[in-house]
Amino acid sequence: MSYFRDNIEALSGYVPGFQPDGSDVVKLNTNENPYAPSPKVIEAIRNTGGEKLRRYPQPLGDDFRRAAAEVLGFSPDNILCANGGDDLLTIVLRSFCDEGRALAYPVPTYSLYPVLARIQNCPVVEVAFGSDFDLPDGLADADASLVIVCNPNAPTGTFVEPDELGELAARLKGRSVLLIDEAYVDYAKANCLELVRDHDNVIILRSMSKGYSLAGMRFGYAVACRSLIDGLMKVKDSYNVDAVAIAAATAAIRDVDYFRTNIEKIKAQRTELIEAMKGLGFVVAVSEANFILARSGECSAEEVHAQLADRRIYVRYFKLPGLDDKLRITVGTKEQNDKLVAALRDIMRR
Ligand SMILES: *Cc1c(COP(=O)(O)O)cnc(C)c1O
Repeated sequence: MSYFRDNIEALSGYVPGFQPDGSDVVKLNTNENPYAPSPKVIEAIRNTGGEKLRRYPQPLGDDFRRAAAEVLGFSPDNILCANGGDDLLTIVLRSFCDEGRALAYPVPTYSLYPVLARIQNCPVVEVAFGSDFDLPDGLADADASLVIVCNPNAPTGTFVEPDELGELAARLKGRSVLLIDEAYVDYAKANCLELVRDHDNVIILRSMSKGYSLAGMRFGYAVACRSLIDGLMKVKDSYNVDAVAIAAATAAIRDVDYFRTNIEKIKAQRTELIEAMKGLGFVVAVSEANFILARSGECSAEEVHAQLADRRIYVRYFKLPGLDDKLRITVGTKEQNDKLVAALRDIMRR
């Protein structure tokens, strides 16, 4: 007999990427931004004094909602703050899914979705991506209450055009909510924000972890029509974002210049890294995210992953069908990427 609910007892929990100790490591395994957050973020954190900490924070994170609304061209009523994008996913699953209300998503994708579904004990419909990772047809017919599309997708880095997701939203209207997980959209050529204006069933997920260098802070948010935001508010914890995080995220989203410069640097390094990897014989698809998915031509990806780890260079390896011959590599600084490429050259020579 277990004290836990059957679905929790049977669950293998989500396994986060390895977080190695030490500053001498090259850490390219969990898609963090290699650069520091804006100096204005550090200043905002410093200015969050004892009085702010003594009191409860703003229940809805109103400072951030106002800032995000201005920067994105929406109303604060369209924004919901969360303790990281993952917190938003939990809120959304709890809001729309149960034993009789399924979750559907294309695969391969973010491996947290099925874990949250099992906790919620809802049916899961996994629909395989098309050959070039185009959106599969089956999603609209999956009879799910919630459909999640990660765009750009993880761990493939591929991108579905906003128009196509708009068509999917229209087909789902009245039946299901479409959550578009835009955790990596800061590195992409376009985004789906405008769909919120025309579709009352679209939720855009954003994260401050990747594009804004704030993975350690824990801040994400939703953009959706007011009726969806109001409903999600009933489900979230009363104080789900803390005072320090609200101050930091507000400063980060307002510093548009710093953000743009940072993103452009990483995109340039992405192009260079892809070229260097191709030079080593890897097959690398175009990526619209801050990571690349590289298939090793001759050697085993698992073996290369292990040998890189021996050299304290960490990338991500998924022992899963369709992914077990590939490495997912976060785009780092030029120096980090050069170290990775040099190590790979050495490993593959042997
Ligand atoms: C990183 C990530 C998130 C959200 O991460 P947080 O750190 O919780 O903001 C959501 N979806 C995907 C696919 C991600 O990679």
